[in-house]
Amino acid sequence: MQNPWIKDFPILSADENGTRLVYLDSAATTQHPTQVLDAVTRYYTHDNANPHRGVYDLAMRATDAHEGARHRVAQFFHAEDDEIVFTQNTTESLNLVAYSYGLHFLHAGDEIVISVAEHHSDLVPWQRVAEATGAALVYLYPGPDGRLTTDELDRKITAKTKLVAIGMVSNVLGLRAPVEEIVARAHAVGAVVVLDCAQSAPHMPVDVKALDVDFAACSAHKLYAPMGMGALYARRELLDKMPPFLSGGDMIGAVHEHSATWAEGPRKFEAGTRNVGGEVGFAAALDYIDHIGWQTMMDHEHALLERMLKGMADMPWLTVYGDPTAAKRFGVVSFNVQDVHPHDVATILDAGGVAIRAGHHCAQPLMDFLGIGSCCRASVAIYNTPEDIDALLNNLENVRKVMGL
Ligand code: PMP
Repeated sequence: MQNPWIKDFPILSADENGTRLVYLDSAATTQHPTQVLDAVTRYYTHDNANPHRGVYDLAMRATDAHEGARHRVAQFFHAEDDEIVFTQNTTESLNLVAYSYGLHFLHAGDEIVISVAEHHSDLVPWQRVAEATGAALVYLYPGPDGRLTTDELDRKITAKTKLVAIGMVSNVLGLRAPVEEIVARAHAVGAVVVLDCAQSAPHMPVDVKALDVDFAACSAHKLYAPMGMGALYARRELLDKMPPFLSGGDMIGAVHEHSATWAEGPRKFEAGTRNVGGEVGFAAALDYIDHIGWQTMMDHEHALLERMLKGMADMPWLTVYGDPTAAKRFGVVSFNVQDVHPHDVATILDAGGVAIRAGHHCAQPLMDFLGIGSCCRASVAIYNTPEDIDALLNNLENVRKVMGL
């Protein structure tokens, strides 16, 4: 079947020789459909002004675009509008929680529980909170299939736990964390749960209310939207008790020479001029996803991953990390080719027109846990085709030959 969505992505159109980039690095960042690019251009062409500042018509339109995008993101996460803070990316969202919640509500003797599979942006901020507050950082370790067991959750989430931060889908293993089990245990001991949705939001619906998490972070650029845009969901009562992260214009109630009060709700955390063009692109990307529909997207991506894993299963010199069952995977497959450095694999694949990621994937503790320094990662999105997967597999067959093995 012809992929009906590729035509929406100008960067993936074929060149004059009919060659098209095989882009298998969407977990790093996705490409943008014209629907998103056009929405951003439309905003800058017709509606650009500084929101929340002017009272003239154009500024009101910019404010409407800004608040309209917040409403769209809130809908996407099944949250209320005043529970969505716009940030630059997942990293800033998680740092906001670490600095405004962690530094103020955690103390010596408390425990912060995270998984060893966390991306550095859901790990280093907690190291810093632990260092500053005296709280201890406690790691959850997965079993041999890459999954967190109930036993491990029971052992590590205890009366001392005050915060659990977890990636909903690992950017290396592509497996969904048992969020419901984590939330149940964390809430039973009065701890809050921070969900890193960077790799889940692009591949499955995320209903923060049904999951009952306290915070959730995502990046728009992994969701077919522009870079420099992200969001944080936070329960309103938590937002109300947290002090600001950054301070300056637009996040204040009133400012006096020696004191200031804060704006209400998410605006308390949105200091300075916002990236409204990015927000508009973010909202347009969510419309694009909705238009395709989750079931269609998930079926399409799972079929691609199944094809990839089936092909890899016939390569005895290739190791896949984490449970290789496609139905249990989202977005990514990480692997190594025996006796070939991942950078060499990626370079050889690039020569064959296939773009994948190689390195530690900002997950060095996980690399240590797996006993590897780095690995290759192929990731899929709506615009990938079975031919893309075959190109990956064919070029992989070639890697060991090129290396003289
Ligand atoms: N968490 C996970 C699981 C990720 O994959 C990434 C991006 N690689 C991030 C956090 C950080 O995202 P960003 O760089 O957009 O802040």
